[in-house]
Amino acid sequence: MNGNNKSALAISRIELYKLNIPLKNPFIISLGVMTDVKNIVVKIHTDQDGLYGTGEACPFWIITGSTQESDFELAKILARVMIGKNPLEIEHLIREMDEEVKFNPTIKGAFDMALYDILGKYTQLPLYALWGGKNDRTLTTDMTVSLDTPEKMATEALAFKDNGFPAIKVKLGENTIKDVARIKAIREAIGMEIPLRIDANQGWDVVTAIHTLKALEKFDIEHCEEPVPRWNNEGLVLVRSKSPIPVMADESLFDEHDAFRLASMGACDYFNIKLSKSGGLNTALKIVAVADAAGIKSQVGCMLETRLGLTALAHLVVARKNIVHYDLDSALMHAEDPVSGGMRYLEKGEVAIPDSPGIGADFDPQYLASMDKVMIG
Ligand SMILES: [Mg+2]
Repeated sequence: MNGNNKSALAISRIELYKLNIPLKNPFIISLGVMTDVKNIVVKIHTDQDGLYGTGEACPFWIITGSTQESDFELAKILARVMIGKNPLEIEHLIREMDEEVKFNPTIKGAFDMALYDILGKYTQLPLYALWGGKNDRTLTTDMTVSLDTPEKMATEALAFKDNGFPAIKVKLGENTIKDVARIKAIREAIGMEIPLRIDANQGWDVVTAIHTLKALEKFDIEHCEEPVPRWNNEGLVLVRSKSPIPVMADESLFDEHDAFRLASMGACDYFNIKLSKSGGLNTALKIVAVADAAGIKSQVGCMLETRLGLTALAHLVVARKNIVHYDLDSALMHAEDPVSGGMRYLEKGEVAIPDSPGIGADFDPQYLASMDKVMIG
């Protein structure tokens, strides 16, 4: 099949929705506060009856710099690029998107996700199988404690432990005294058995990061995400060389170029891959390849995606053994669930992924009906 073949599939129209969902509680990190979910849904239809793909973007402006409004405008431009093209030519379409609009990985990720959904449905394979994966692992998710007072954070962590989550992720990034007090309070509440992961979200400078990580050693921390500002790769190398706790690159790692640079510099022990940073699954697969080549293990993470975006990410996990940590908790923070099918949260943080073709998830049309919408094509 090629682009000139008259029988080739073609993209006929694209629907764009602003997807607004309330959060159960404000989500607080060192960079700012999110009070509700303001995502975008991209639905790509083809000229084959009933064959369409769905993707989701979560513009997390305090990290990626885009908003629902800015991404919605860009989505209209990207949609016009796609109309009439063959949706199975994903690598080609991603290059066309990158030529039309520079940067802005979050909204491109929604298009990438919808294209893979089409490819999976077309070939009748779930995404993980499309990439040659074997569904032989029990997936679990950690659960994230927002940045707050030590007392509130300890209470929240204990509730998560009592719920059976196998690991707890803690937002830090203020200063040594306050952050150590937070972890001390949490360990006193939950004990030492279950793993704790921490995330400074760029909140420390190099000296503070080194002091804090040394002070936290006795609390048995599994790893620390993004201790220093994202641009400071040299600083990250220094922190890693002094830290007793393994370092994970998150905001400093968007695409495969970042992955290669960080790996070459020896800047981190782990990568944190998110589809809203990578621009979707195609680049995420490239990051995993760099990680494999460099002997670095990966985590997958989320912004505030629904179960649809998380399901696409979970397929990547199943497809690639390099990914060993899973942070798939965002939909648990939503007050409403607009997704049908898709990954399910079971007991004790366990996650089950669907075996249906493509992503295997969709949005409830009735939920989308009340949202702002445009149609291109
Ligand atoms: Mg992080």
